[in-house]
Amino acid sequence: MNDTQTTTLEVDDASAPLNGLDRCDSCGAQAYIRATMDSGTLLFCAHHAAKHREALQPLAKVWHDESEKLNER
Ligand SMILES: [Zn+2]
Repeated sequence: MNDTQTTTLEVDDASAPLNGLDRCDSCGAQAYIRATMDSGTLLFCAHHAAKHREALQPLAKVWHDESEKLNER
């Protein structure tokens, strides 16, 4: 099941938690959303994720959204 193993690794990487070192590609704020695309990975803050979500989410292989962390406190 080599195919399954490869896919699992990609998914694990795409769903790994974001941290304070991950920065929005648009403005440099802390990133809370990661869009894993065929062409690479995009990071967004909550503001820019909302702005680009409609266009990008359908294209993303994984749309990893941790923006709910912003509402925890
Ligand atoms: Zn941003």
